[in-house]
Amino acid sequence: MPNFHSLSSISAALKSGATSSKELTQYFLGRISRLNAKLNAYITVCEEAALAQAEQADAQYRQNQAGILTGIPMAHKDIFCTQDVLTTCGSKMLENFVAPYSATVVQKLNSAGMVMLGKTNMDEFAMGSSNESSYFGPVHNPWQLDKVPGGSSGGSAAAVAARLCPAATGTDTGGSIRQPAAFCGITGLKPTYGRVSRYGMVAFASSLDQGGAMTTTAEDAALLLSAMAGFDPLDSTSADPSRKDVQQSDAWLAQVAAEGYRGENRTFSIGLPRQYYTDTIGQAALADMQAVLEKAGHRFVDVDLPHTDAAVSTYYVIAGAEASTNLSRYDGIRFGHRCENPLDLEDLYNRSRSEGFGAEVKRRILTGTYALSVGYYDAYYVKAQKIRRLIADDFSRVFEEVDVLLTPITPGPAFGLEELTADPVAMYNQDKFTVPVSLAGLPAISIPCGQTNGLPLGAQIIGPAFAEQDIVDLAHQFQQLTDWHQQTCQWVED
Ligand code: GLN
Repeated sequence: MPNFHSLSSISAALKSGATSSKELTQYFLGRISRLNAKLNAYITVCEEAALAQAEQADAQYRQNQAGILTGIPMAHKDIFCTQDVLTTCGSKMLENFVAPYSATVVQKLNSAGMVMLGKTNMDEFAMGSSNESSYFGPVHNPWQLDKVPGGSSGGSAAAVAARLCPAATGTDTGGSIRQPAAFCGITGLKPTYGRVSRYGMVAFASSLDQGGAMTTTAEDAALLLSAMAGFDPLDSTSADPSRKDVQQSDAWLAQVAAEGYRGENRTFSIGLPRQYYTDTIGQAALADMQAVLEKAGHRFVDVDLPHTDAAVSTYYVIAGAEASTNLSRYDGIRFGHRCENPLDLEDLYNRSRSEGFGAEVKRRILTGTYALSVGYYDAYYVKAQKIRRLIADDFSRVFEEVDVLLTPITPGPAFGLEELTADPVAMYNQDKFTVPVSLAGLPAISIPCGQTNGLPLGAQIIGPAFAEQDIVDLAHQFQQLTDWHQQTCQWVED
């Protein structure tokens, strides 16, 4: 089924009766059983449940009750709780955890009629940029198996890139949708903080965590987002639906959900932040992208985001601090790994946590606890919060001048497996172009814009809060004018 790589083309084929949900589901399950052993993109495959969902979807088509996404197979990052299906979060701690309920995102995509093929591999508790911290082993980049797929949503990115599913959910705390999308040559949309419910999404850093879409096109990202997003009373930081910008965003998403995505050919003024154009390998690809967009009528302006350099340290203080408190719930009592034969309560805590968490998670808990402890709180945590505000203010200022920003996503293409594992700070610095956006809570989309040595390169389009429509429209225009998003790795033909 060579043309069935995008949600929109699959949707059309289902509607016309050219294929059925069952046939599609069998097709993707077949690809998973042939190729997943090489990639390790899935932790759990839900063969039986997927086929049952597909049969239901086919019945909906027969009864003329199908929506745009009905019957389309997809995968969830293993951070989203799924009732009756394992949710490991990439950790030994949750190796046997079956949630008693499904995340709002999962429920929403279920009710849109999508078929869940399985749960994808990820860095442990979403902490990482290479998927190498997963308890279930690293994911291999389908473009070159000795390279990382990026992280933490590496399983979702590799699965979409190798077409082991046409789309997947991901989450992004400091870049975990955008960076793996770039490394695997797919499209990744990180929405505005609060746009997508965090209910049932295992918490890493609650003021930053945001679910989003990993797809092959910007159009598909809009389609998936339209079914995922929306106000959720179960998430206390869900975007306030009485805000004007939220209402505009809601109206756009409702239109996409009802009628499909129709891109608008508006022209944008696009800022190029000087601080992002320093040392990246992708400069040439971005310059080509700029030329394509200039020819299409978009206008470019150099802008300044002066606090960019402080973003990585700020992010790692705040994310670590929040992680250290969020992960205190894994105490071996109510759920998660419990050590054998504890001597007393303290021994139970100590050993359950020592055995259940991997090295990177422990590093975050330790540094995070340190940043929050008496005597260091003001020096680290409070200072980081102040810098976070300065970073957010930088963005607000430039968005008075330009509509969107165009930047690289990563300092280079996918790096080698084990290349950075011995040097955590080098790994953290990989996130320098993604974490500022996260700290400011803004939406950004990652799209393929070139290649180097057979590996994809990504560009990032950043928008003001709730301007998902603008960044998707611009990304879509670029994808109409170029075919980088259609370049695939060799696996796709297998
Ligand atoms: N790489 C970043 C980290 O390790 C971001 C992870 C994420 O977005 N979940 O924290």
